Amino acid sequence: MRISEMNWMMVEEYLKRDDRCVLPLGSTEQHAYLSLSVDSILAERLATEVAEQAGVPVFPVVAYGITPYFRALDALAEHGFKRILIVNGHGGNTPAQGLVGEWIADHPGMRVKFHNWWNAPKTWAQVEAIDPVASHASWMENFPWTRLEKVTMPSEQKPEVDMNHIRQLDPKALRTYLKDGNWGGVYQRDDEEMMKIWRIAVQETVELLNNGWAK
Ligand SMILES: [Zn+2]
Repeated sequence: MRISEMNWMMVEEYLKRDDRCVLPLGSTEQHAYLSLSVDSILAERLATEVAEQAGVPVFPVVAYGITPYFRALDALAEHGFKRILIVNGHGGNTPAQGLVGEWIADHPGMRVKFHNWWNAPKTWAQVEAIDPVASHASWMENFPWTRLEKVTMPSEQKPEVDMNHIRQLDPKALRTYLKDGNWGGVYQRDDEEMMKIWRIAVQETVELLNNGWAK
């Protein structure tokens, strides 16, 4: 159930029988030859498929990092949602995970799960089984729904970036070092393989939405 396809009366009805919802968290940033919205597209699509299977409403993706996301949480709590599954699609948002604890302390009765979908145990194991050289803007984010029309991918495998080197660079130097923005790995793999990863990610996320909420 997408919130964008419900009115407030439908949400009110829903809240009489359940208090769960899903909030996708993305970003808007370079992803080499893929869409600038990769993290938002993946988080929102995964969250929507999962929410549909579980019969739980899914909110529109928060596409601009950490700050608006806390405002979104406040709004959900005010309206009666008590269990929120955040489906995060962007590594740079993970500091928010630490702040969730503080937010919960200020909002008694709220339960929040913060889920980095791409490196959750089962999904990540499947990525590694297919190709261990996988990173930001590489094949592992190249799904039929993040590709741009008429853009051809390079055929080589980009070497993995040196994380220790990257941490010392200012944004301009970083851009020169990263070139097209892929952090390492081939640019595209078979859609069969991508669908294998996707199905596991959906299943793993549905399990989180349906089970293991603290009382
Ligand atoms: Zn990404």
